[in-house]
Amino acid sequence: MTSQEIRQQFLDFFKSKEHLIVPSAPIVLKDDPTLMFSNSGMTQFKDYFLGYKEPKSHRIADTQKCLRVSGKHNDLDDVGRDTYHHTMFEMLGNWSFGNYFKKEAIDWAWELLTEVYKIPKENLYVTIFEGDEKENLERDNEAYNFWKAHIAEDRIINGNKKDNFWEMGESGPCGPCSEIHVDLRTAEEKAEISGLELVNNDHPQVVEIWNLVFMQYNRKADGSLENLPAKHIDTGMGFERLCMALQQKSSNYDTDVFTPLIAKVEELSGKKYTGILEDEKDIAIRVVVDHIRAVSFAIADGQLPSNGGAGYVIRRILRRAISYSYRFLGMKEPFLFELVAVLKNQMGAFFPEIVKQEKLVTEVIKEEENSFLKTIEHGLVRLDHIIKETISKNEKVLHGAEVFELYDTYGFPADLSRIIAEEKQLTVDEKGFDEEMEKQKQRSKKSSAQKVYDWEVVAELLENFVGYDKTENEVKITRYRKVENKDGEFYQIVLNETPFYPEGGGQVGDKGTLENNEGTFDVLETKKENGLVISLIKDLPQNISGNFIAKVNISDRKNTQANHSVTHLLHEALREVLGTHVEQKGSFVGPNYLRFDFSHFSKMTEEELALVEEKVNAKIKENLPLQEYRDLAIAEATEKGAMMLFGEKYGDKVRMIQFGSSKELCGGTHVKSTGEIGHFKIMAESSTAAGIRRIEAISGDKATEYFKNLENQIKEVSTLLKSKDLVKSIEKLLEENTALKSEIDALKKEKAKGEIGDWKNAFVQKGDKQLLVKRTSLDAGSVKDLVFQLKKEIPNSVTIIISDAGEKPMITVGVSADLEATYHAGNIVKELAKEIQGGGGGNPGFATAGGKNLAGIENALEKAMEI
Ligand code: ATP
Ligand code: MG
Repeated sequence: MTSQEIRQQFLDFFKSKEHLIVPSAPIVLKDDPTLMFSNSGMTQFKDYFLGYKEPKSHRIADTQKCLRVSGKHNDLDDVGRDTYHHTMFEMLGNWSFGNYFKKEAIDWAWELLTEVYKIPKENLYVTIFEGDEKENLERDNEAYNFWKAHIAEDRIINGNKKDNFWEMGESGPCGPCSEIHVDLRTAEEKAEISGLELVNNDHPQVVEIWNLVFMQYNRKADGSLENLPAKHIDTGMGFERLCMALQQKSSNYDTDVFTPLIAKVEELSGKKYTGILEDEKDIAIRVVVDHIRAVSFAIADGQLPSNGGAGYVIRRILRRAISYSYRFLGMKEPFLFELVAVLKNQMGAFFPEIVKQEKLVTEVIKEEENSFLKTIEHGLVRLDHIIKETISKNEKVLHGAEVFELYDTYGFPADLSRIIAEEKQLTVDEKGFDEEMEKQKQRSKKSSAQKVYDWEVVAELLENFVGYDKTENEVKITRYRKVENKDGEFYQIVLNETPFYPEGGGQVGDKGTLENNEGTFDVLETKKENGLVISLIKDLPQNISGNFIAKVNISDRKNTQANHSVTHLLHEALREVLGTHVEQKGSFVGPNYLRFDFSHFSKMTEEELALVEEKVNAKIKENLPLQEYRDLAIAEATEKGAMMLFGEKYGDKVRMIQFGSSKELCGGTHVKSTGEIGHFKIMAESSTAAGIRRIEAISGDKATEYFKNLENQIKEVSTLLKSKDLVKSIEKLLEENTALKSEIDALKKEKAKGEIGDWKNAFVQKGDKQLLVKRTSLDAGSVKDLVFQLKKEIPNSVTIIISDAGEKPMITVGVSADLEATYHAGNIVKELAKEIQGGGGGNPGFATAGGKNLAGIENALEKAMEI
């Protein structure tokens, strides 16, 4: 059975059990402050479990792209080293939201595995939660009894809290779970040791494939458990592991999920994959074919590699693949990008994003490979220097701090440092390295740590956002909780009908005030978390359950709105001018400016920029009215021609924003008609990554301010020039300037000529040779002329002139032709330049060096005399 068929059968099976089949959510989470990536199937349903939102069906099933490389679930270090943990993997799952519970979950899992997939029953083991005294939880006898109906009792294993109690995070929904393990060993191996002993023992052929979680508790911030009002089922089955079991392989990498990728790596590297666990080349190949999936899908879903946050995690995964293939496959040139086409052929039918974004994904990966390979080359030079220093001091251990700096500041892989050190019979001070790493972790932890308390419910009211229609509203606080971070203590509050827009879709969150008879409370920021709109205030009001007037900061909101609406017009204009390959890849919309990132493969020309600006301003002039469609069925929006972006998670109901022919799905706030935008002005166009361009622009009040400033500057200049025709006046000034310059040059030459006599007299006799060492304030050009003249006219001579004209010192050395075999001007200059923190060079007869340190001149002069 192919992997495609295996996936389809899973979905068909649960469809037959009346489950709604939904698509995978994007692998990258946007606007979720608690999590960067989907790390399990339930991530996209968090709101349902927390009870913040009604599920669209009480039975759902899907396959979800997951990434486990950060936070609570991090498998990165195992990937490649074992055969069944991946960074990105598909999790097949079925859910019940307050609908069926343990019995059906267990019965159906068994039916699917043994009757549909026909896994022999004697290869299966299951685990149940054994209970936990400290938590006051008893053994999950319910699950035990349901399993007993299907499987021999000695195959039902008690598991501890670590393996058999699933928690979403530090707090939130949780419950006991029951895992299904499969034993894929040969009959002989089984006869030797029973599978019972190998379950949950890191055996590569006795692995967990499916976890059934019975959500029945809520973990509170103080660590205690309470019963959930409704009980849920959350299951997750590793798709690649299931394929291994059904295709009778002993490694996920031997299934058709990976074999085409491996074949391509073999072709490109000329190395053969032999599937050996400890073989470094095989580890590297597994790392490569695993990581390319994670990185490609992250980019396709809109997360580009970058220097911080989720982007940095993606960059690190890619670099791990590059570093392994550099070391163990001998790949010193970019090649990973060539795997994207293979991945597309394999996964494109089910995940269309990889087809649509193939070109971008390929370009971005290639560019990242190029730049990291350069980093490696530079790092090798630095490391070589460190190694030489260590050897010269007769030491055998490289300082941990230095290796860490290479890694942390320059991105040079620590493993590579270790290997190269070993080749030179050196080691790395691992303790020192770990200490630096720990310090670094503490530093970043400190800056981001936030303690969050439980919600205190004040009023059981519906929590709605009314900010599309109102910027001022009478409200009540429905719940609040304390948060502590490095800036102090704050309160997060939720309102029943909040006018405050929560940060999202690139648009900044609203600020404003809450007022009651006690006074005014500043709303410092507004964000969304698990569907709740949360505003931040410093102090809690006394009368927490009373009424408040919530007021949005109007001027910020208006300017932000103008920037948001104009972003839509910009997007459309870019597609008209550059082509429909242009797609939004990120944006920032604030009150002062907007930033718009989009896919496009070359720098925009002046003409293109001017044309885009013109088109946008024309739409502003047309004063197109806002047409807003709330609660549009997604199919209807598609029919109306709305732009759909990959990597966005759209619900069944969407909001469409239309200005004339521009139609986008968008949750942001907008102007009532485009005339409010006033004017649009592009300030910069640049590149942020391969294939991604960025436009920074202003509109509204800021654009007016910009032109006002320009006008003022022009006025000032024309006052200074006492002229109305600025261009003509400046041309005249430039002409005058050129004339003056050549006059000065002539004068300088005259002056230098006057000095040549003095310089000739200043030569001192050293043996049979002539040496001149002199400090001067003449400019570089004159010094050069003089030195050339002296080396020609005075045989057997070395001339060393150090000039201090201007801010920076300069050394010029001339050696007469007859001495060029004995002295090398280039080498002399290099030696002396060290004193003035500079560098330079030249040929045996003439050389110059510039430096930074004027104070070093005296030392340089002294050194020059020694030469
Ligand atoms: P393990 O102990 O093997 O790491 P887990 O307990 O972390 O698994 P769950 O969080 O219960 O796994 O996830 C549900 C299923 O997802 C697992 O039964 C397994 O089949 C699969 N799975 C989990 N992590 C990975 C991974 N890194 N790569 C591939 N599949 C995975
Ligand atoms: Mg795990």
